[in-house]
Amino acid sequence: MDKKLALSVRGLTINYGAIEAVKGIDLDVPEGSAVALLGANGAGKSSVIRSIAGVTPPSGGSIKLYDQEISHMSPEKITRLGIAKCPEGRQIFGSLTVEENLLAGAYVLKDRAKRQECFEKVYNYFPRLKERRKQVSGTMSGGELQMLAIGRALMGDPKAILFDEPSLGLAPLIVEEMFRVIREIRQEGITVLLVEQNALQAMQVVDYVYVMTNGLISVEGPSEKLIGDSSLVEAYLGK
Ligand code: ATP
Repeated sequence: MDKKLALSVRGLTINYGAIEAVKGIDLDVPEGSAVALLGANGAGKSSVIRSIAGVTPPSGGSIKLYDQEISHMSPEKITRLGIAKCPEGRQIFGSLTVEENLLAGAYVLKDRAKRQECFEKVYNYFPRLKERRKQVSGTMSGGELQMLAIGRALMGDPKAILFDEPSLGLAPLIVEEMFRVIREIRQEGITVLLVEQNALQAMQVVDYVYVMTNGLISVEGPSEKLIGDSSLVEAYLGK
């Protein structure tokens, strides 16, 4: 039997004034799977993620979480329904400690025991965050901040996580760690939608790939099929 769709996007358009950033795309993310949205700079990937998270309202089309239409809900409501957006590490509150930042991610959880469980899970993924839990976040390295951003997304015990370029600007070893954690998160049963410019590494951790070019999906397919297609990577992803 086919898996249920955790996220399904139909005919999504996103305009910024006269700029048509996303020109009508369809995208499916089956429950428990990992899907990558790849493409060059300016293709429209981050706009799609921001619309799913409720931050940038779409101009048209539909976005469903399971069977529920979420395209015009507030970011807070969408978070409460179980979709977490993992931003770039730079968007972490620099004046708060690691622990305070993580707690901020748990605001949707009322149950104290559940919050504690999430803390343990995050510290298990990133022992470094546990060591640094009293440190003010603004003094941490780019890699540590990205770990904290992922940790904060996990603190709401989400059904799905939207990753917006988690490897951006990080050293190769840290990038590897980031992708390892994303793979583990997916293995834990959390649905993953990953926006990346780092196409080759992203394809190693996902089941299915969409490539965006100028606001449209230009190519899609199972990652195992696309991964060996060097002409695709050259033509659409510039790597
Ligand atoms: P990048 O990796 O550079 O973020 P992207 O594929 O994620 O690229 P988007 O950030 O979604 O692309 O941008 C798509 C297009 O929409 C670009 O032409 C960008 O200039 C434009 N755009 C994005 N956000 C805004 C905004 N707030 N106002 C006006 N134009 C915007």
